[in-house]
Amino acid sequence: MTDAILVVNAGSSSVKVELFAADDALASLLSGQIEAIGLAPRLHLRDAAGATVADEAWPQGEGPRDHRAALAAIGAAVARAAGQRRIVAVGHRVVHGGAALAAPVVIDPAIRAELAALTPLAPLHQPHNLAGIDAMADLHPGVMQVACFDTAFHRGHPRVADTFALPRAFYQRGIRRYGFHGLSYAYIAMRLAAVAPALAGGRVVVAHLGNGASMCAIRDGRSIDSTMGFTALDGLPMGTRSGQIDPGVLLHLLTTEGYDAAALTRLLYHDSGLKGLSGLSSDMRALEQARTAEATEAIGYFVYRIRKELGALAAALGGLDGLVFTAGIGENSAAVRAAVCTGMDWLGIALDDQANARGETVISAPGSRVQVLRLPTDEERMIAIETLRLLLR
Ligand code: ADP
Repeated sequence: MTDAILVVNAGSSSVKVELFAADDALASLLSGQIEAIGLAPRLHLRDAAGATVADEAWPQGEGPRDHRAALAAIGAAVARAAGQRRIVAVGHRVVHGGAALAAPVVIDPAIRAELAALTPLAPLHQPHNLAGIDAMADLHPGVMQVACFDTAFHRGHPRVADTFALPRAFYQRGIRRYGFHGLSYAYIAMRLAAVAPALAGGRVVVAHLGNGASMCAIRDGRSIDSTMGFTALDGLPMGTRSGQIDPGVLLHLLTTEGYDAAALTRLLYHDSGLKGLSGLSSDMRALEQARTAEATEAIGYFVYRIRKELGALAAALGGLDGLVFTAGIGENSAAVRAAVCTGMDWLGIALDDQANARGETVISAPGSRVQVLRLPTDEERMIAIETLRLLLR
């Protein structure tokens, strides 16, 4: 029987899983997800060659109804598909580690309680992450479980990047700029050491552009600032999230337009960003194909904000040596990468249009002072790496 590490990423409407061989190479054995939890759930697992090993779909209102049931269903499907492989550890993506948890940790009752206490800081995500931990403890009693945090990579921010200009007591109460997408940034920082060693010790901005989008300023492999703050709402506009907004707008909506907290939450998390601006879709691919004036404007806004944040983060770093594009849009949209880099020669960026169109790893021109890269991210693998590290400790 060979040993395996299960990685669980329990999000708001889906649970993603991946099984890795528990040795240094961490070969991926199985991956999949259960989607549309609470609507019309669909479970799909594939092996390393991409062949389907489990595929189930339930009509509206049937099948696993909530996260607990969905986790049990996908946990059981993985256990069946794992065959002779014994799961020796489970690594979880946990959105919030608060101010104290700056590295992955083995989950024990005290840590479980600490994570639950952080729920008010991430009410839309932390409860699902906790449900994942509880479900896997039920399915695999006694097996080591590890929490890996989206916030941890940012915990070394200087205080000036970590605070708001509120009265000092708010900082002590945890009202801070935590930053997110840290597992993706940690993975990219690790990959830089392999593919661009000169950048690994330099000043780099990473643009994680997916449904959720943020940017991170990295110096010597460590995060010094990020566009996301107290929540994953700040910074860049996203698929359905507004990104940065004048807080006065929120006060106005609350005081004169009859909004309450629930209506604001819906507006800022679900109805804004690319979806709100385009009136069409949250999906970049759909917008690029649509070519309507509104879709073009939404993409233009997205690009404009990335360019502004690039300038701001370069200033925070005191200059720029590298720019990395990653995640769904960053990895796949040559048009967005080109639009971000066009006219950025003042910052030392010169794109190689052909290399960009082909989606090569290095997409800057040979003489470009700033090296521009396209690197696929892999948050699940990062969790597996950290989980193995703690398993072997
Ligand atoms: P998540 O944050 O949910 O993990 P992803 O990193 O998968 O999201 O990114 C999803 C985004 O990537 C969507 O907007 C999608 O349209 C976009 N995307 C994926 N493939 C392409 C493509 N070939 N061209 C343009 N956009 C793409």
